[in-house]
Amino acid sequence: YTGKTGSELLTEKLKKIKVHEYQSIPVVVNENVSVYDAICTMFLEDVGTLFVVNDRSLLFGVLSRKDLLRASIGNQDLREIPVHIIMTRMPNVTICHKDDLLLEAGQILIDKQIDALPVVRETEEGWEVIGRLTKTNLTKALVELGRDERL
Ligand code: ADP
Repeated sequence: YTGKTGSELLTEKLKKIKVHEYQSIPVVVNENVSVYDAICTMFLEDVGTLFVVNDRSLLFGVLSRKDLLRASIGNQDLREIPVHIIMTRMPNVTICHKDDLLLEAGQILIDKQIDALPVVRETEEGWEVIGRLTKTNLTKALVELGRDERL
């Protein structure tokens, strides 16, 4: 028996969780797809954030729901506008790595007021997108920890 309280054990456990334990599969679109097609992809794939990649599959930008809504207001030709015109682009994209602490990634989501981070792997040419970390993933981690009866 360690003599630790439930809340001490909970904190200890929480501080060890890595991003890869809770990350989701990323949904990516090419920089040249239209805003119209990106909206369709967002609905079909049931995600709130799309990651934009270039022809070499390297991270190029991020598209949120509001980015797509903003572009849609008063625009008739959504099939003509490529997403690279409206996305948040590199180097302004905030990323994380699979071995980062979940708590640190969560702090970034709060500080930057965003819903998702691409999980990337560094290559010689740039960042390859290997996952997606969202507020939903963090909620899931919290609920699982709260349910853990050993704590
Ligand atoms: P929404 O705009 O739908 O509320 P977000 O809060 O995630 O969704 O996005 C707010 C803004 O921040 C958007 O313009 C979006 O492109 C941008 N954004 C989202 N995720 C990131 C990220 N990981 N790095 C940089 N910018 C981001």
